[in-house]
Amino acid sequence: MDTDQLLADARRLIKPYRIEDGDHFRLKDIDPGDTADFDDDEKPRAKEWLGRGIEALAGLQDRLYAQDRWAVLLIFQAMDAAGKDGVIKHVMSGINPQGCQVFSFKAPTSEELDHDYLWRCLRNLPERGRIGIFNRSYYEETLVVRVHPEILARQQLPPELVTKDIWKERFQDIRAVERFLSRNGVLVRKFFLHVSKKEQKRRFLERIDHPEKNWKFSLADVAERDHFDEYMEAYEDAIRETASEDAPWFVVPADNKWFTRLIVGAAVVDALTSLKLAYPTLGPDKLAELRAARERLTGGNGKS
Ligand code: ATP
Ligand code: MG
Repeated sequence: MDTDQLLADARRLIKPYRIEDGDHFRLKDIDPGDTADFDDDEKPRAKEWLGRGIEALAGLQDRLYAQDRWAVLLIFQAMDAAGKDGVIKHVMSGINPQGCQVFSFKAPTSEELDHDYLWRCLRNLPERGRIGIFNRSYYEETLVVRVHPEILARQQLPPELVTKDIWKERFQDIRAVERFLSRNGVLVRKFFLHVSKKEQKRRFLERIDHPEKNWKFSLADVAERDHFDEYMEAYEDAIRETASEDAPWFVVPADNKWFTRLIVGAAVVDALTSLKLAYPTLGPDKLAELRAARERLTGGNGKS
């Protein structure tokens, strides 16, 4: 399969899940069990495509790094057990670790709470030439914090700033920051791994029943599940309010891990390709320098 075909496939695959204008977005329009035109017995075809996508990514990342102009920020959000960790592990498996940074954002520390809520994320943005991955992000400030008002109450905000408009204001600020980033050479792509409540239950039970998965199980996750529907409303609102052409959301069906990985892989290939990355070309002075270095290394006769 040539590169053009790979890219054409990627664009076709991701189209139904890419949200760049939130006005008419409804979460219920995307089925967590969707596998596009892949039947279950076509898993190998999906895996083969992803393998090629990952190979392509390695080449794209090499150019991103060499060119040192753009940075790429990939934000992953999801309910527990939706497969964030697996997606990050698989899709990034061909990437040079030197050019990639992963940050996981958990409940904020007291130092983090002493700052504005963007602080901990903005200080960990990827440098030019790198891919940065946020495993959760400032979006939690419109998700878990919205579902649990007691968290907001602990945020040490001046009380007069906490009004009924707070979510609208947070969305406004997030939109502004993401526009700022895109105007400064940070390409932003956001992924919501959309798992169903039923599949989440199955995965929790698997974590309980399989000793090698026990370490992943947390009782707190089961408690959080009671708020599943509230989370879905918060996600829908966040996506509606912050989807943009520069920083689109991908709402990725997540009941089948192989399909989730395929779509995320395709979206990342498409994102990097859109940057038209190329190795830097040298000007006449640098080329002359290279020729002089060659002369010096070979003693002028082409031999070592
Ligand atoms: P896994 O459970 O697979 O290890 P995870 O991303 O769920 O991955 P956890 O250790 O469970 O990792 O911690 C993440 C928790 O931190 C989530 O429940 C999330 O809602 C919470 N969290 C993240 N950001 C914030 C925030 N700004 N305020 C409050 N809670 C937050
Ligand atoms: Mg968790």
